[in-house]
Amino acid sequence: MAKGPNNPWEIAQEQFNNAVAYLDLDPGLIEFMRLPQRELSVNFPVRMDDGSLKMVSGYRVQHNTVRGPAKGGIRYHQDVSIDEVRALAMWMTWKCALVNIPYGGAKGGVIIDPRTLSQDEIENLTRRFTSEIAIIIGPDSDIPAPDMGTNPQVMAWLMDTYSMHAGYTVNAVVTGKPVEIGGSLGRNDATGVGVMFSARQAMQKLGMDAESCRVVVQGFGNVGSVSAREMAALGCKVIAVSDVYGGLYNANGLDVRDLIRHVRETGKVIDYPGGEEISNDDLLTLDCEILIPAALENQITDKNADEVKATLIVEGANGPTTPAADRILQEKGVTVVPDILANAGGVTVSYFEWVQGLQSFFWSEAEIFERLERIMTNAFNDCWAMKEKKGVDMRTAASILAVQRVAEAANLRGFYP
Ligand code: NAD
Repeated sequence: MAKGPNNPWEIAQEQFNNAVAYLDLDPGLIEFMRLPQRELSVNFPVRMDDGSLKMVSGYRVQHNTVRGPAKGGIRYHQDVSIDEVRALAMWMTWKCALVNIPYGGAKGGVIIDPRTLSQDEIENLTRRFTSEIAIIIGPDSDIPAPDMGTNPQVMAWLMDTYSMHAGYTVNAVVTGKPVEIGGSLGRNDATGVGVMFSARQAMQKLGMDAESCRVVVQGFGNVGSVSAREMAALGCKVIAVSDVYGGLYNANGLDVRDLIRHVRETGKVIDYPGGEEISNDDLLTLDCEILIPAALENQITDKNADEVKATLIVEGANGPTTPAADRILQEKGVTVVPDILANAGGVTVSYFEWVQGLQSFFWSEAEIFERLERIMTNAFNDCWAMKEKKGVDMRTAASILAVQRVAEAANLRGFYP
């Protein structure tokens, strides 16, 4: 990945610098929290359906583990780079600290477009990648989960491969597994439901009434589709959604549940009959009250931030807004609920899954969402209070809280030897 204004690792550091400016910390401790603790880079062969061997590259980065085992998803995408994985790992450290769960941050990525592979090829790739990173992952050390391009089936193969190496079943090595093999009820919907909890809190603080809110969602995968469904259930009108192939717009509101059914059958939103086509670029600047970016990084930049009409942005995706865009949005009076807060529902229910797996005692879905709601609401209110206290935007407030917690843990543990 090129250096420059949209390099996620540089963006993550700029956000970190903004937060530490409000904290009185030892310069050495700041550098300790900035740099990834451990980075594993792997190149490995995958047997393709036609019998050929394809070399594939991937990474696992553990950013910081002072608050507990490393935790973070695995992404399969053609644009994965070490800098992207580093940034995503650092954001996981802050996210886990912000919702106060006992984890550090990690992330994994494989440079591959999974849409170009068959199921057998994805299984071969997943099993070999798991073997390659098995030297640093484990139920007590580093617990992967799904991210863009991976899903519960991929997590099942990861768990099985790790278990074959161990010689016994190790459920707790990964979260986001299917319920039949130790997954948690509610995990699939957790990130999107958490996005809705965050949006709802923000709407309440800003005096926005659900019935008069039009919502636009970029990305219609796990996070985007559930966020859209939950916002519609809250009473909002979801007027546009998109995926990698393009977007769909209907000023009167889309039938989100029917659209989810359609995407499950066809794999795309654009050919759904209930709306007109719109490009991903135009979608971001549509006239609406709430914008939920739920696809990938660097979508709201200094090129389009000025054109954004939404008054509230709730970041389902990780890193969708650049620091330059943040400054423009702040000046325009747009409230941004940052990724490390808004999409923390996924890792929170991943934590519940890990706890349930370790205890071999599983909770009801109602218990899971009740606990998730409490954690997300408390984290939102803590950030809002910090924003008011310091007079900063929500991203800086969330980062201050998170960095402060990691710094406190590091100081308590001390620096070995
Ligand atoms: P996913 O693979 O299920 O869905 C991604 C969606 O984005 C798909 O609809 C895809 O078509 C669309 N997309 C891809 N490139 C696009 C582009 N250029 N323009 C518009 N749409 C595009 O992935 P996901 O799990 O929903 O993850 C989405 C984002 O949410 C990522 O940033 C991820 O890191 C973040 N996130 C995911 C979770 C989780 O639990 N899955 C948790 C926290 C954060």
